[in-house]
Amino acid sequence: MYDHDVLVIGAGLAGMRAALTARENGVDVAVVTKVHPVRSHSNAAQGGINAALTDRGDAWEDHAFDTIKGSDYLADQDAVEVMCREAGNEVIAMEHMGVIFNRDEDGRLGTRAFGGQRQARTFFVADFTGQALLHVLYEQVMKAGVRVYEEWFVLSLIVRDGECGGAVLMDIRTGGIHVVRAKAVIVATGGLGRVFEPSTNALICTGDGMALTYRAGAPLMDMEMVQYHPTTLAGSGVLITEGARGEGAHLLNAEGERFMERYAPNMMELASRDVVSRSEQTEIDEGRGVNGGVLLDCRHLGEKTIRERLSQILEIARDFAGVDIFTQPIPIRPGMHYQMGGVKTDVDGLTPLAGLYAAGEAACVSVHGGNRLGANSLLDTLVFGRRSGQHASDRAKSTAYLDVDDSAAGSDRQQVRDMLEHDDGGDTFASIRRDLGEAMNRHLAVFRSQAGMEEALAILGELKERYSRVRVADKGKTFNTNLIFTLELGFMLDCAETIIMGALERRESRGAHTRTDMPERDDETWLKHIVIAKGPEAPSVEYQPITITQWEPQARSY
Ligand SMILES: Cc1cc2nc3c(=O)[nH]c(=O)nc-3n(C[C@H](O)[C@H](O)[C@H](O)COP(=O)(O)OP(=O)(O)OC[C@H]3O[C@@H](n4cnc5c(N)ncnc54)[C@H](O)[C@@H]3O)c2cc1C
Repeated sequence: MYDHDVLVIGAGLAGMRAALTARENGVDVAVVTKVHPVRSHSNAAQGGINAALTDRGDAWEDHAFDTIKGSDYLADQDAVEVMCREAGNEVIAMEHMGVIFNRDEDGRLGTRAFGGQRQARTFFVADFTGQALLHVLYEQVMKAGVRVYEEWFVLSLIVRDGECGGAVLMDIRTGGIHVVRAKAVIVATGGLGRVFEPSTNALICTGDGMALTYRAGAPLMDMEMVQYHPTTLAGSGVLITEGARGEGAHLLNAEGERFMERYAPNMMELASRDVVSRSEQTEIDEGRGVNGGVLLDCRHLGEKTIRERLSQILEIARDFAGVDIFTQPIPIRPGMHYQMGGVKTDVDGLTPLAGLYAAGEAACVSVHGGNRLGANSLLDTLVFGRRSGQHASDRAKSTAYLDVDDSAAGSDRQQVRDMLEHDDGGDTFASIRRDLGEAMNRHLAVFRSQAGMEEALAILGELKERYSRVRVADKGKTFNTNLIFTLELGFMLDCAETIIMGALERRESRGAHTRTDMPERDDETWLKHIVIAKGPEAPSVEYQPITITQWEPQARSY
């Protein structure tokens, strides 16, 4: 058994920002991560991070309004205000820690335009911003002496009388299962992209923390809000950053037409992601697509811009699609990218369960509502990672450990033993995971319908039944990735259930949730969050009002 004042689950940007802040606040901190820290999905972020800096003639209120409009008015405006107010200091803090942002001709931090925003306020490091931020934070975390449980897998959270007192972890190298007691636990486990196939997300993005928290009794919010990014590579689903359109790339249909003129005449390719994805899907469905997708044209951007600012895109298009972007347009289509919903928290990351915090993509504060603006997620991870680290470490200073001992790992040890011993010829994880991803991508994508979502729920029931008989082929203890994938699949099935339930519940169209059978937004009835908690038998659904501070809902056009 191990003791730490604060245990952070996840070593992406949210987790490391939280750990660093908690450590600086003078408590003992540990981070646990199922992969090496710099392999976290944050590393893949390309385009940039938003902030309104006043010396650029920008104002945090404008950033907040763009975010709220982008969210289709589902975001909580008090939380958005916190994020946008603190954005500038956060970006500058990262610069001071050592992130070498791109600069403009005057030598000041440079910005690029991003979707759904009236100002160019996205700070960036070429097209590998996440990697630059993550490596710098990892250096700081190491320098601060934070203990990192690297390649350890969290199996469950420990809850006693409505308080979280630690977690049960498996050391992937040995298969040993251990208890970590903590006075505060921060869930920073990232997104759930791989519940859908394909997805832009890394294979490790399996929604573990959302499911762990849900199982521990804290609710999930806005789970129906799943973002399809407008430019993912047709075929593999690899992301082509919005930065490409920010630098001026065009979207074309089979007739060579810039079709966004018809859907968003003012913002064109840089309308909000939900709007652009719907427009593309409409072109494809109405027969103006190219092999089930549309085209992203970078040819006119010129070699200098492409080499300096979009070098990764140049390589991705070449290596994954055989396309030379200097001379050919890139075949793209909308693809699953981001989960706006997650563990319900307040602006300090606190969940309704005392001692349990969440931050980053795993959390729903809520700042993204029905549709996240590009480059607001990196910002969300840092601002709310820091705030949860601060609050959790303050709590740790004034509380004692709960009465938890090694027996807290009993049921996890039993479950793992059962999984390994059980062998009646059932499926392995792979076919269930594939069938789940394909069903979600068929029925909960850009356009949804009642019949499709009901079909998805029925398929989910069958998949859960198959999972109850799942067979782990590798019976070993050392680096049993087969076992890890199987455990992840259990988390994914829980996440999928809450997504489908939320989507069936929301009987309107808002943000990324667009129903062909109910195409209008209905503020009268549905200007509220859907909150899902795990009940003793079936999940329970509740509503939560939206916080409006100064921006009344308006019709949304770009
Ligand atoms: C390809 C791509 C490009 C993107 N580009 C941008 C961009 O330009 N701008 C922007 O704002 N956003 C972007 N996003 C979104 C943004 O990168 C993510 O939302 C954000 O980085 C998530 O950070 P996080 O810290 O919450 O989680 P992650 O970085 O995903 O980290 C999760 C951590 O949790 C750990 N973990 C998970 N489960 C367990 C478990 N069971 N046990 C132990 N550890 C566990 C993992 O090991 C990992 O360390 C992009 C996303 C993708 C996929």
